[in-house]
Amino acid sequence: MTAVQSSAEDRGGELARKPRRRTLSGRSSLLVVYVPVVVAIHVGLTAGGLASTSPRLNDLLTFAALLACGAVCIEASRRLGMPAGVARDLLSSWWLPVALLLPPVYALLMPVPVQALLQFRVRRTLVYRRVVVASALGIAGACASMVFHLVVPDPLGGPPQWAVDAWPGIPAAVGCAALFTVVNAALVAVAAHAANPESRWRDVLWNRESLLLDVVELCVGILVAITSALTLGLLLLALPPVMLLQRSLMHQQLQAAARTDAKTGLLNAAAWQREADTELSRAQRSSDPLALLLIDIDHFKRVNDTHGHLVGDQVLVGVAGTLCHQLRDYDVVGRFGGEEFVVLLPGTDTVEACRVAERLRGRVRRLAVPAEEGTVAVTVSVGVALFRTHGEDLIELLAAADLALYRAKASGRDRVCLPAVEGPRAAEG
Ligand code: GH3
Ligand code: MG
Ligand code: MG
Repeated sequence: MTAVQSSAEDRGGELARKPRRRTLSGRSSLLVVYVPVVVAIHVGLTAGGLASTSPRLNDLLTFAALLACGAVCIEASRRLGMPAGVARDLLSSWWLPVALLLPPVYALLMPVPVQALLQFRVRRTLVYRRVVVASALGIAGACASMVFHLVVPDPLGGPPQWAVDAWPGIPAAVGCAALFTVVNAALVAVAAHAANPESRWRDVLWNRESLLLDVVELCVGILVAITSALTLGLLLLALPPVMLLQRSLMHQQLQAAARTDAKTGLLNAAAWQREADTELSRAQRSSDPLALLLIDIDHFKRVNDTHGHLVGDQVLVGVAGTLCHQLRDYDVVGRFGGEEFVVLLPGTDTVEACRVAERLRGRVRRLAVPAEEGTVAVTVSVGVALFRTHGEDLIELLAAADLALYRAKASGRDRVCLPAVEGPRAAEG
């Protein structure tokens, strides 16, 4: 993958976690319109580029060499394994030189074999997602290429004087690299947001970590572009360090992926427990309150039975997104199993915890998950337990919240309960 591709999957996390259906049908109408439009622009630009560009041997050799380097990196990532959620793989190191050095048509063509390789050799994913990512990469690459060729009309015509002189070639390369990232990010973010309108723009665009990776990828891409403009054979020297960088980057991501629940992107049970233990120790040292919510979707089996497991999965993704959207950054949210979620609220007392639980219950009620025949709505029951009042450690707190959840289920579902009958009751019904 390239900077663009990796950013694409990274930013398209929501897109990646979206329903497991194989086609675009049944998705949001914006997505159904948007994807064909982006693909049509990509195909149109490629056809125009092929018609107007006369192939030159040097261009073809450079394209083949950079594509081969990308393929070697893809094979290497294949051996590492690449589960969902691992998205940054430094392929932009090969992508960006194509955009900068070669006519725009090559940047439009490059994503096709790269995405096909990723799909068939590394990880199969929804075809429409690969297609939209490829088109976004192609369009972004072509934009960068067109602008760079205005400043440096023939970057491969003789020794790379544009790099030796530095001005204006290098600032133009940096600017075009940034343009490439911005265009790609914007195209993919719209698709990710259309796939999951509940997601926050902030999440589908940049965060600090992905911005840092973008900068690293673009720097490496520009260095490789200069290297390959000097002599194509120098790519052999660039390949090992890029592969090593890729390996360490992916190792980091694999570690992060091991903490998360692949379906919802929330912490998995083990990771949640570790983080919750840390928060609990902090609360034990201070006199701060702390609350725990156990949230269970009501009659979820019926959703599966009526609409199928794929729609059931979409409901899980929707509920998880709603929880994240409603909670603070430092609240610890996890998927505990099946259709059960758990939330630790640091610095939160009984009244506030019940208020938060009520808000979550209300928000989930408003969810409308698209299904074949209309939309699916669900409710949740919430058990609330308070540190010190209902338990002194995580096990006791979870047991108390479980009891509270049982009460909520037993008294009719779609409500928030505390464990003890004599305890303050939040909203019921
Ligand atoms: P209650 O209101 O009492 O909680 O009823 P319920 O139907 O929600 O609870 P029950 O425990 O009977 O059923 C939970 C269902 O959740 C059964 C299981 O097939 C389904 N489930 C668990 N994990 C997943 C998943 O990852 N995806 C989907 N689609 N279904 C899941
Ligand atoms: Mg349930
Ligand atoms: Mg359950």
